[in-house]
Amino acid sequence: MSDPTNQNGQRRAIRALKERVNKQLSNTKITDYKQMHEQTLISSQGARVLIEGRKEPLLNFSSNNYLGLATSPELLKASSAAIDERGLGAASARFICGTFDIHRELEGQIARFHNQEAAILYASCFDANVGLFDAFLTADDVVLSDSLNHASIIDGIRLCRAKRLIYNHLDLQDLEDKLASCKDANLKLIATDGVFSMNGEVAPLRYDQREKRARKAISGFDREICNLAEKYEALVFIDECHATGIIGKTGRGSEEYCDTICRVDIINSSLGKALGGASGGYTTGCKELIDLLRQKSRPYIFSSTLSSSVVAAASKAFDMLLKGCPLLKTLHENARAFRKGMLEAGFELIPSDHPLIAVLTKERDTAERLERAMLDENVLVSAMSFPVVPKGQARIRVVISACHSPADVRACVDAFVVAANRIGLELNARR
Ligand SMILES: *Cc1c(COP(=O)(O)O)cnc(C)c1O
Repeated sequence: MSDPTNQNGQRRAIRALKERVNKQLSNTKITDYKQMHEQTLISSQGARVLIEGRKEPLLNFSSNNYLGLATSPELLKASSAAIDERGLGAASARFICGTFDIHRELEGQIARFHNQEAAILYASCFDANVGLFDAFLTADDVVLSDSLNHASIIDGIRLCRAKRLIYNHLDLQDLEDKLASCKDANLKLIATDGVFSMNGEVAPLRYDQREKRARKAISGFDREICNLAEKYEALVFIDECHATGIIGKTGRGSEEYCDTICRVDIINSSLGKALGGASGGYTTGCKELIDLLRQKSRPYIFSSTLSSSVVAAASKAFDMLLKGCPLLKTLHENARAFRKGMLEAGFELIPSDHPLIAVLTKERDTAERLERAMLDENVLVSAMSFPVVPKGQARIRVVISACHSPADVRACVDAFVVAANRIGLELNARR
């Protein structure tokens, strides 16, 4: 027998691991540029951020801090008060001894905010998506999923036994055909991002029996998701990570934006974006479903409870939204000004009126060069290309925030023009 202290076995195993990893790294499309270049922030999140290794602060048009709440004095105060009173966290899962009063209160607030019966918290919306489908769908059921749904929805659906039908992105004719093809299924669930996180498109949810013509004119679609759901007796699930606290008159998301309050059955959303930018997620829907998730949803049961600071901050964010939050107005004024400036300068944008704005370059290389040229102008934006977005649709993803001033927004447009000229990107300026 070989000497167990010389660890040749381990050395060989590690060598095999490294060989495997190096091979994968050299093949991976996102890693070569993006993920190898994770910038290290050495400031808080805000209109300007400090990046390790750079002298100048950068104008930040990259984070999902839509309302600027990541540094809100009110949220910070609520957060530290909760730490003083409850400590950092419960050091256990909810069902062991991890349910604080503040968890219950926040769940109540979330349900009220969305006009639903109950809500359940998760460590992230990724967890909420992964933990949802398998908890209640069986092999007799069908999930109809938009082809550009978020990775966590795709993973969640993969984990469940239901039949999976993927309809072309926002193609409601295709969705209807697929609904018609599974009439005999037990439960039918349409699953879609409320707002698509790579382009700011809002899913056409509307449901209104009357005013058929008006509907068509508003959304530009001749069908709508909730209408199809009604016709085919399907449930509707939406992921509202880029909608909650962002769109709709009072920030209630895609439902409010599309005038569909009470016709969506299950909503998942994140506390890590507009609602303070820390972390956390949730599912909200009917009481029976939420009760079941507490019994069966694996990322909920087998994971530590959310920290006190996160819960208190999110709770304060919902308070603000429930009272009517002026930051929403600022956010959308900024977004409109940016879109207008960019269109006038001749950039091609994916149409939407969401503050997440996709500036199309189409070529991956152009997107990456434009991102770097923007950095030279001290503006932080993110290039996105395949496989994160479809092939040939590379883009710069810009996220507008209420913490930007009108001057910041103008500076960003100006930087885009300079950067585009520098890399030789042709603009179709409309004057
Ligand atoms: C960010 C995001 C998630 C994940 O949310 P986390 O709370 O960050 O885990 C899920 N779905 C969509 C559409 C997202 O944009």
